[in-house]
Amino acid sequence: MAVTVQPKALQNHAARDFRMLIDGAWVASDSGASLERVAPGHSVTVSRYQAGTAKDAERAIAAARRAFDEGHWPRMTGAERSNILLKAADLIAARADELAFLDAIESGKPISQAKGELGGAVDIWRYAAALARDLHGESYNTLGDGTLGVVLREAIGVVSIITPWNFPFLIVSQKLPFALAAGCTTVVKPSELTSGSTLVLGEILIEAGVPAGVVNIVTGTGPAVGAPMTTHPDVDMVSFTGSTGVGRLTMANAAQTLKKVSLELGGKNPQIVFPDADLEAFVDAAVFGAYFNAGECCNAGSRLILHRGIADDVTARIAELSKKVRVGDPLDPSTQVGAIITPQHLEKIAGYVAGAQDAGAGIALGGSQLDLGLGQFMAPTILSGVKPDMAVAREEVFGPVLSVLTFETTEEAIRIANAIDYGLSAGVWSRDFDTCLTIGRRVRAGTVWMNTFMDGASELPFGGYRQSGLGRELGRHAVEDYTETKTLNMHIGARTNWWMPR
Ligand code: NDP
Repeated sequence: MAVTVQPKALQNHAARDFRMLIDGAWVASDSGASLERVAPGHSVTVSRYQAGTAKDAERAIAAARRAFDEGHWPRMTGAERSNILLKAADLIAARADELAFLDAIESGKPISQAKGELGGAVDIWRYAAALARDLHGESYNTLGDGTLGVVLREAIGVVSIITPWNFPFLIVSQKLPFALAAGCTTVVKPSELTSGSTLVLGEILIEAGVPAGVVNIVTGTGPAVGAPMTTHPDVDMVSFTGSTGVGRLTMANAAQTLKKVSLELGGKNPQIVFPDADLEAFVDAAVFGAYFNAGECCNAGSRLILHRGIADDVTARIAELSKKVRVGDPLDPSTQVGAIITPQHLEKIAGYVAGAQDAGAGIALGGSQLDLGLGQFMAPTILSGVKPDMAVAREEVFGPVLSVLTFETTEEAIRIANAIDYGLSAGVWSRDFDTCLTIGRRVRAGTVWMNTFMDGASELPFGGYRQSGLGRELGRHAVEDYTETKTLNMHIGARTNWWMPR
C-alpha cells in the first residue's frame, strides 16, 4: 500500500472571494450568483467565484473586440508588448507562492509540484515575450521586376481561451502569453473548479501594464460561459484544452462562424519497453508517468507496453516502487500524489477499475479509494493482464491507474500503440538507437520521449495527433498560431493592361 500523508485541517483559513475581470474592472456576475470551491484534499470551502452568465461572456467579448479594433495593444511594437510580458513574468515569479497555494488547495495537487509548475509557467511567459519581438512575415523579391510580394503576419483578433482544472496556471500560460505576444485580445474562462490562480493572473497583468479589455476573465460553467465564447461572431479563434467530447463540441460550435480552433485534448499514452532498456530508470519513469498529478494529466503514461520477456519482473518492480509513493495532504511538502478533483471524478475512476476487473484484468496494486479522513484520494493502482480492446486500455481514465499490456515483436508494439483514437504522446525505452528511432517515427503521437518521460521545454511544441487535438502549443510557432497571414502584392512600374496591351 502507498505511504499516506494524513491531511491536516485548514484552520483559520477564510475562503477567498473573487470577482471577474471585464474591460479592466473587477465585476460581479450578471446573475449575482456565485460558485463555491470545496478543496478536494481538505473538504472545506476555499474559494468563491462569480457564476458568470452568457451576458457576462458577451460583455467580455465586446470589450475584447473594442480593445482589438480600436485599442493600442495590437498596434504596439513587439518590443513594447514584450516588455509588458516580461514584467508579467517577474510579477508571476514574485507571487509564485500565492499562486501555487491556490492551485494546490483548489485542484488537490501537491504543493511542491504546484511550485514547480509556477517555475515552468514563468519560463513560458519569458519565452513568449522573446517571440513577441521576433514575429515576422516573409518577402518575395523573386517575382520579376514588376512585382514585390510581402506576406504579413497579423494578430488574428479576439481569442477565446478555455482551460481545464488539472494544471490551472500552467495551461493558461501555454496559451495567453502567445496570444498576447501576437497582439490579440482575449476572453479567458478557467475551469469552474480552479479559477483562483487565473483571476490572480488578471491582477498581475493589469499591474504589468496590459490595457483594459485586452485580457478579460469570466468565471462560471462551461455551458453558461464557455459555450457563448465558442459561438459568438465577434470571436475570431478558440483555444481550448479539456476533454475530447467538449473539444468536439467546441469545434462544431466554432464551425457555425468558421472560427479557427486550437484543441489540446485527451491522451492514452503508451510507454513501449524493450528488454535492453535501462530498466531501473524506466521503473522510476513509469511510476512518475502514472501517478504524477494523480494521473489527472493528458500526458499520463497510463499504458505500459512491455516486452513479454520482462513484463512480470518489471511489473513487480513498478508495484514495489509504487508502494513508496506518498499520497495525501496536498499542502504537505513531502506529498507526491494529492487528492482527486471531485467525488464524482473519483467514482468515474473506480468505475474504470471495476470495469477492467469484470473484463478479466487483475489488480497488481491498489484498486480502491483511500479514506484519509478529509478529502477524496485514490490509491496508486496497477492493472495487469489488460488487453488492448478493454476500455481501460483505450479510454482516458484520468486517475492514478496504470494498465500493463505486453508485446512480442516491434511491429506488434507499434500496432498496439497506434490502435487507439488518441495520439498525444508516447515513450520508448531501449539502449538501441535503431529501436528508438523506429518507434519514434512510426508511433502516431505529437511527442515521443526516448529513454525519458514527460519532459518538456518552452521551446518544444506540444499537441496531439488524431483525437488528441489540433494545432500545437509552445515552441517558436506558437505565436504564429494566433495570427492570420496577409499578402501584399505590389506592382512596380508600368502595368500591362488586360484589354489593350501596350
Ligand atoms: P471539460 O472538457 O468538460 O472541461 C474543460 C473546460 O471546458 C472547462 O473550463 C469547462 O468548463 C469547459 N466546458 C465545459 N462544457 C463546455 C461547453 N459546452 N462549451 C465550452 N466550454 C465548456 O473537462 P472536465 O473538466 O469535465 O473533465 C472531464 C474529462 O476530460 C476528464 O476526466 C479527462 O478525461 C478529460 N480532461 C482532459 C484534459 C486535458 O488536459 N486534455 C483536462 C481536463 C479534463 P467547466 O468545467 O468550468 O464547467
